[in-house]
Amino acid sequence: MSGTAERLKEVQARIATAEAEAGRPAGSAKLVAVSKTFDADDIRPVLLAGQRTFGENKVQEAQGKWPALREEFEGVDLHLIGPLQSNKAKDAVALFDVIETVDREKIAAELAKEMARQGRSPRCYVQVNTGSEPQKAGVEPTQAVAFVQCCREVHGLTIEGLMCIPPADENPGPHFALLEKLARECGVEKLSMGMSGDYETAIAFGATSVRVGSAIFGQRDYPT
Ligand SMILES: *Cc1c(COP(=O)(O)O)cnc(C)c1O
Repeated sequence: MSGTAERLKEVQARIATAEAEAGRPAGSAKLVAVSKTFDADDIRPVLLAGQRTFGENKVQEAQGKWPALREEFEGVDLHLIGPLQSNKAKDAVALFDVIETVDREKIAAELAKEMARQGRSPRCYVQVNTGSEPQKAGVEPTQAVAFVQCCREVHGLTIEGLMCIPPADENPGPHFALLEKLARECGVEKLSMGMSGDYETAIAFGATSVRVGSAIFGQRDYPT
């Protein structure tokens, strides 16, 4: 087995343990394997090991590898987890199955327009800036309910869940708890939270998907 496939198994086992410890059903926290910066040859062992849900944070980078990988492997579920510019909405709708980073009305409008034009409907999540960090994408927590409502009622988007990236230097627990509370207030069921360093904590707080990159693929050569 390749190193990546071994690390994948280890992450899967830790997810299963975290689910059990939280009293949650097996499989209720889905693994999104974050393959950003890694090329098709790095990703293939993870696909061969059976993983089908992947996250990428750049539209253009994903376009360079996933169309070919999708011809090799059936059932790939591709999530966009990085910021989306409105001029990339068209390509994002064409390529991704889930767009986790809806956070501005302009993006919501572009996505809705492209979905109608292309006849494709990727599932959407709203990103929430739980730490109100100025450099970070996402809607302010106080705006989440109104923004989800606007996406649904003004733009006709189906919003399935919320996503957050807690501040790097803080205990993530309170951020995960906040996202879970906001999801209830917004009436959405999916919670995308937790990365390599804190996915077990996120599962304890109710994550329905965790986005794990370096714990599977190893360290990235350049920061993104
Ligand atoms: C890169 C990235 C991840 C994965 O981070 P790791 O610490 O490598 O697991 C998760 N979520 C987002 C939004 C990312 O950009």
